[in-house]
Amino acid sequence: MSKKYVYLFSEGNGSMKPLLGGKGANLAEMTNLGMPVPRGFTITTEACTKYYDDGEVIAPEIQDEIMAYVATLEKQTGKKFGDRENPLLVSVRSGARASMPGMMDTILNLGLNEDVVEVVARKSNNPRWAWDCFRRFIQMYSDVVMEVGKKYFEELIDEMKEKRGVKQDTELTAEDLKELAQQFKAEYKSKIGTDFPSDPIDQMMGAVKAVFRSWNNQRAIVYRRMNDIPGSWGTAVNVQEMVFGNLGDTSGTGVAFTRNPATGERKLFGEFLMNAQGEDVVAGIRTPQTIDQLKEVMPAAYNDFVKICATLESHYRDMQDMEFTIEDKKLFMLQTRNGKRTAAAALKIACDLVDEGVINEKEAVLMIDPKNLDALLHPQFDADALKKAEPIGTGLAASPGAASGKAVFTAEDAKEWVQKGEKVVLVRLETSPEDIEGMAAAQGILTVRGGMTSHAAVVARGMGTCCVAGCGAIKMDEENKRFELGGKTYKEGDWISLDGSTGNIYGEAIKTTDASIGGEFGRIMAWADKYRKLNVRTNADTPRDARQARKFGAEGIGLCRTEHMFFEADRIPAIREMICADTVEQREKALLKLEPMQQSDFEGIYEAMEGLPVTIRYLDPPLHEFVPTEEDDIAQLAKDLGKSVDDIKAIIASLHEFNPMMGHRGCRLAVTYPEIAVMQTKAVIKAAINVKKKHPDWALVPEIMIPLVGEIKELQYVKKIVVDTADALIKESGSDLKYKVGTMIELPRACVTADEIAKEAEFFSFGTNDLTQMTFGFSRDDAGKFLDAYYQKKILESDPFARLDQAGVGKLVKMGVELGRATRPDLKIGICGEHGGDPSSVEFCHNIGLNYVSCSPFRVPIARLAAAQAALKG
Ligand code: PEP
Ligand code: MG
Repeated sequence: MSKKYVYLFSEGNGSMKPLLGGKGANLAEMTNLGMPVPRGFTITTEACTKYYDDGEVIAPEIQDEIMAYVATLEKQTGKKFGDRENPLLVSVRSGARASMPGMMDTILNLGLNEDVVEVVARKSNNPRWAWDCFRRFIQMYSDVVMEVGKKYFEELIDEMKEKRGVKQDTELTAEDLKELAQQFKAEYKSKIGTDFPSDPIDQMMGAVKAVFRSWNNQRAIVYRRMNDIPGSWGTAVNVQEMVFGNLGDTSGTGVAFTRNPATGERKLFGEFLMNAQGEDVVAGIRTPQTIDQLKEVMPAAYNDFVKICATLESHYRDMQDMEFTIEDKKLFMLQTRNGKRTAAAALKIACDLVDEGVINEKEAVLMIDPKNLDALLHPQFDADALKKAEPIGTGLAASPGAASGKAVFTAEDAKEWVQKGEKVVLVRLETSPEDIEGMAAAQGILTVRGGMTSHAAVVARGMGTCCVAGCGAIKMDEENKRFELGGKTYKEGDWISLDGSTGNIYGEAIKTTDASIGGEFGRIMAWADKYRKLNVRTNADTPRDARQARKFGAEGIGLCRTEHMFFEADRIPAIREMICADTVEQREKALLKLEPMQQSDFEGIYEAMEGLPVTIRYLDPPLHEFVPTEEDDIAQLAKDLGKSVDDIKAIIASLHEFNPMMGHRGCRLAVTYPEIAVMQTKAVIKAAINVKKKHPDWALVPEIMIPLVGEIKELQYVKKIVVDTADALIKESGSDLKYKVGTMIELPRACVTADEIAKEAEFFSFGTNDLTQMTFGFSRDDAGKFLDAYYQKKILESDPFARLDQAGVGKLVKMGVELGRATRPDLKIGICGEHGGDPSSVEFCHNIGLNYVSCSPFRVPIARLAAAQAALKG
């Protein structure tokens, strides 16, 4: 039997998301539940992937199948495409497996042409409405299918309003709209070179193709990268009989959530617009009414809707996000899906559903997106600073959190300024999906128009970015990059602050403080801890970071980068003295100054960790990073060291390397200057002896980690220095201190010879930053310059420095684990590259049997949750 590419809603069900996409599967499920869903069919995601495999054409057999389903839909509805009596009009919408709000394209009112619009005008007795539908259709079709920019059409509308002396679109008459439709068609012809298609079948094939194409538009690619959605999934296409929310004052359209997506409160939350079509609500052009008001306006439809909400929520056992249309008082459901929500709402909803007996703890752990937690863990406004600040205006509290940054007015500016190291708040009339990269880069987003379900609000909540939406009091001057609010003008670069929890806007920078977490967060984390197998450590170089990480649940330090301590103002002179030394004696003298400072750093860190494991990584970066570059600093250094400026410059020049990341760094430093390893060992061991004396009950076992080992003899050489130094100190002090010497695995050669290396190493920690750099041969500092081109050309889907490349780098990691444990079956293995806090990479680490992941303090809760999810999925 040949493959089936099209399914009627009545042929599908909710479990068919991979094939029918989320929207299609849920439309099928709602149809099966007997809910009022306009009839239609879904063209599968496999048709989309075939479209790409076939070189961006819809195969003839799929076209035939679509035609057969059009015929079925005509039979079911009693309407016909292009009919003079009862014409069929449809919507064509995208729907991928994972929801991608606003990322792909929708076309409404398809099937209209010059003849059909007259029929619709006559039959509805509402020519104004009919022509409005037609001009909308031409506009959407041109934009989506033919990529003729929306703005040309909007200009034509504005001209028409000016000519007629009216302000609102709704004041235009049927005749005006008819004239506009003609102008739109002319515009289409002038831009495309052919007539606007009048045959509904041609229109539909064009629309289906456009939806397939939209899977690979720029904003969809960016959204997928941010949300780990594979490009290979493709999108389905839903073709559905139109129902009209713009038929007059007994019609409308809206979106609603079964619980509040910002707070999680168990109460219907949403908004609707009377006499409007779907895109009017989401685009945020008119300000909608709240769902409660629907009760007064149309009680019967409201009651039906409330019943359906309850049924859907208990059916899906999760908060639902629904779209509906009321056509002449009759309710139709156009979509349901598990709703996007803020981190705070996600936690509350999960706990409430457990308490309501709807789901169990494991399901609660699985339903929270670990990345979402980020928002909870980030700074809030300092309460005192906030009290002193005076709001200059308020908007809707669309996505919580605090943001302080310089005002910018375009998404491109946001991206550029952030790349230059600025903090920005993106201020827009309204956002559109093209703005996604700028929105992701900004600290916060402020819009003039739009409600809680506007694009800005939905996308910001998904990203965990603070957003204040719909502040209508703003007088916006986008062209000149400034706005007026509260009687003052704010220009590009002026500081503003947003409170995404109250909607307040401030015309100044406001200090922020660390997040505090508790309540539901603690409950979910406790459940996560019950099920996870991986330990979660942190990368921390200071007692302060270590304490922060412990508050977030870190179970040890997986990476303490000792060089970070050397950069501090009181240490840098000593390290420079060491680098500029001419003899071993001079170097040892300089190191002697550093030793007590480093020892006290380690004591602070051991104290903060209270006996939990601490892994200390020996000096790693190339030494040129420590020497001055400014003339003044060079002169000062020369003076301090009693050398000439030229001598110092000669030393600095001698440190120059063509490939410093592959140069004199890592264990190579200890090989050339063993006295550095001696000093660091003394500091590690003396600190541990001291702290152990104070806290004899703590299980303090320092883990000394040698970086960038590629050959076992490197490790043997450095380890001997460490052991000789440490054992002598321990013996001398009479302490019973134990310690371990292990290595980072961050070179391909180390992975391949891990069985050898494990003979010496008492633990492994994968440094996947360097391992990614060395495996791809991509500089970790410069890859940003070409990665964008790689995403665009679909060579890579995500940044391999953020998300572990499982097919390549991951294979080396797996090999390293297997070879290492072949030599030393109980070898303790962790990961301390950036990937240790990335959920999909954490899952990989669980699957290949690592003992722990280590990540920055703020990502510890994310890793705990991701580890639990990995264990529960397994
Ligand atoms: C690594 O390379 O993954 C690592 C953790 O070390 P660093 O980032 O300090 O090079
Ligand atoms: Mg490294």
